[in-house]
Formats: sequence, C-alpha cells, structure tokens
Amino acid sequence: MAAIRRVLATDIDGTLIGHGGEEEVRDYLVAHPELGIIYLTGRTLNNACALIGRYGFPNPLAIATDVGADIFWGPNLEADEFWAFEQRRYWSPRRLRTALSNVPGVIYRGRSSHWRVAFELDDLTLVSVVKSCLARNHLPARILWYPDERRLDILPCTALKSRALHYILRRVGVKAQNCFVAGNAENDGDMLSNHYPGVLVANGDAAVRNCLPEWIMRSSYPGALGVLDGLQQWLDQNR
Ligand SMILES: [Mg+2]
Repeated sequence: MAAIRRVLATDIDGTLIGHGGEEEVRDYLVAHPELGIIYLTGRTLNNACALIGRYGFPNPLAIATDVGADIFWGPNLEADEFWAFEQRRYWSPRRLRTALSNVPGVIYRGRSSHWRVAFELDDLTLVSVVKSCLARNHLPARILWYPDERRLDILPCTALKSRALHYILRRVGVKAQNCFVAGNAENDGDMLSNHYPGVLVANGDAAVRNCLPEWIMRSSYPGALGVLDGLQQWLDQNR
C-alpha cells in the first residue's frame, strides 16, 4: 500500500451519521482509498464498529474511542497499550468516587465504559459543585454532562480528541495541514480549534460555532453531506 498523504479525521455521531447523506459519503470514501480515515468518537470500540459496519464506511487507519481515551490501530483494531498507559497516569477513579461520595445529590451510577465513571445529578447546579470538589481534591479529570439524562461522565483529563489525533498523525507521518477534521459538538471543539483545516457541519452546536478559528469551514449542509461538502472543497483547493 502506498503511503497515505492525506487523511479525513472525523467524529461519528451527528457528523458522519444521523442527518442523511451517509451513503453519498460512504461511496465517495470507498472510491478514494488514497484518503486515509481516522474516526474519533465518544463511543466505545464495539459500539463504533457496529455503526461503521452498518453504514459500510471504510476501515480506518486508526480509531480513537471514549473521546480519545483509547486508540485502536487498523486494520485489525489493536489497542495502543502505550496510549492507554498514558491515560492511567493521572487517573484515579477510586479516589474520585470517594471524593464525590460525600456530595449530596451526586449519585454514583457505575461505569458507563471502561474509562467513564458515571454519576446522576439531582440538578444542573451540581455540575460546578462536582468540578470544584475534584479541583479541591487535586483530581484532574474531563467532565462530560448529558443534561437529557442528568448524567455526568468523568474521564481521564487527557481524554481529548485533539490529543489522540496529534498522536495518531505523528505515528502515521501525516502533517497537520494534510489532515481535514470534521465535527459537530462540544467534544469536537478542541480538535476543530487546533491548527487543522476542517469543517463544522450545519447542525453543529452554536457554542462550538462561536469559538472556532476562521479557517474552519461552516458548511450549510448537515451531517455527512456537510463533511463531504467541506472535504471536497478542501481537496479542490489543495490539488
Ligand atoms: Mg458528534
């Protein structure tokens, strides 16, 4: 296989899947195998692979799951043990649970994945209470809040799509300017605000839209069609 020069690094939910146009993007990517694919998702590996398989999206060079806490390398999706070790350096789920066990209205709900410690909150104001409790106890962590379920997931502070992507690109030897990123939500914000060219799809969160650098395209198409729109414009400009 010839060395990959350019890659598409994309989120899955709300970006590649969920707003129509999935088949068009799949056909385009399958017809352009010279473009490497990296998926970066909040999902777990099994979960993400089931979706990728269902839509027939190409196998990736690598996939980062749990918002970057784990990395798996294609084509056999072997776990990157070095990366997992890095995540564990600042990660103490047991201490974190102990610290939060004394906070009224914050109920432990178990692990929602290998890296996610889940809590249910009685109300929204407790998000900041949790943050200050963790800070007071010197427990750096990444916090993801799902208001619809009143669920708060806590992950290692190093679980960031941008960090995982940086590491993957270094390993595959692709320069930042040759990596096109695509996303829609807050957990894509760090990846979209880095130095990569990229696109925010039309259904992207307003909060993310307002913080993006000016070179990130704002597609007028939602989901997969937005990815395709941005990607094709970028490839046309960089022939
Ligand atoms: Mg998303």
